[in-house]
Amino acid sequence: MTATPEQTFCPLPWASLSLRNDGSFRVCCQANVSKNRGLLRDSSGKNLNAATDSINAARNSPDLMQIRSNMLAGVWDNSCNRCQTEEAAGLRSRRMYSSAQIENSFSLEDAKVVTAGDGKINPQTVPLKDLDLRFGNTCNLKCRMCGPQDSSSWVQEHQLLFPEETIELSNMNWFQSSKFWDELKSQSNSIRHIYIVGGEPLMISKHFTFLDWLADQGHSKKISLEYNTNLTMLPPEGKKVWPSFKSVSFGVSVDGFEAVNDYIRFPSIFKNIEKNINELKNTSNFQIWISATVSIYSILSLVDLAEWTFFTLGNKPGVEMTSVFKSHALHRPAAQNIQCLRPKEKAFVEKSLELQLKKLMAQQADAQLIDFLKTTLKKYIKFMKAKDLSSSHSQFIEYTTKLDHHRKQSFADLYPDLSKMIFSETV
Ligand code: SF4
Repeated sequence: MTATPEQTFCPLPWASLSLRNDGSFRVCCQANVSKNRGLLRDSSGKNLNAATDSINAARNSPDLMQIRSNMLAGVWDNSCNRCQTEEAAGLRSRRMYSSAQIENSFSLEDAKVVTAGDGKINPQTVPLKDLDLRFGNTCNLKCRMCGPQDSSSWVQEHQLLFPEETIELSNMNWFQSSKFWDELKSQSNSIRHIYIVGGEPLMISKHFTFLDWLADQGHSKKISLEYNTNLTMLPPEGKKVWPSFKSVSFGVSVDGFEAVNDYIRFPSIFKNIEKNINELKNTSNFQIWISATVSIYSILSLVDLAEWTFFTLGNKPGVEMTSVFKSHALHRPAAQNIQCLRPKEKAFVEKSLELQLKKLMAQQADAQLIDFLKTTLKKYIKFMKAKDLSSSHSQFIEYTTKLDHHRKQSFADLYPDLSKMIFSETV
């Protein structure tokens, strides 16, 4: 099916800079699922990396030039397959969000004027407006769905429990290179939005140095910061510099209520995260929402977590539950995906969620919370039943047993009935 430039144009290849946590330059985070994972290469095919290659080389890499040319010709580039598929399914894609965002207000007409026939741009005259920065694997937690690539805390335990698996970690300290920061500073006047991810970004002091510099230069008032963080800490450097930014938002990774979160996001302490949220939540330029990953480990805690979120961040005039509680289904590892449960276990989960909801309704809980939960639970029950991944069921048992034993934790203590079903041979 042919498309038009209006349907394929996205501002990101012109106005945004996106990095993987190992410093590789890439098209954008959505392109991660494409064949080449959206990585940008030089003319010899070498991946470009922020530790050694220049930002301008990445912005005019053959891959990005080709994508721009395709977009202006009304051709969907392979890297943008996810947006194409989502739009074909009637969903709102990242391309559509980005096109509508003020920070990325760079139009198709603008793009036509500044782009050469081969897709090249002059980086001096096409300003960077948006940064998606990811900083290695430094993290203080070792969440059950993560591994050494995501968290430095995982490395030792992984070597001990899974010695047969090789760990490939390279360039996880790419952000220590001053070359990248110096070049970024020279293009910072136009930046309006920075998305910051780790590992755990609040552990990365280099990024606070950059934020201090933005504040000193007077740029920070025009910039919205957005973090994806576990908020187990509140560094003084952050508390000092954040108020000088236009806005600061935190997507806080919390997957379950109290002990459930501490079990999954080991060794986090829920009460500390709650304390940090309470410290920040009434600051005028701050916005906080809970970002929950729904897996076998967390599905039965969803109602409690949503209720806690409602009383912690919602429950105020004008605050919608949808703006303070955002959740997504865990897809990988398949063994932790709720689709990996066996039919009787899925039926148990469904029944249990329905009972929890009925209990809230009987307590005459807030109507907004009830409506939100009705929609959310329906979505996850539908997702859970949509596919049978139970071929990975034994891996869930093996992995959970190993981790529980090593960490002195217990899935059975959290979920006695579900645990009995999962760990019994015949269901
Ligand atoms: S169209 Fe989608 S995949 Fe392509 S650059 Fe834009 S957001 Fe990324």
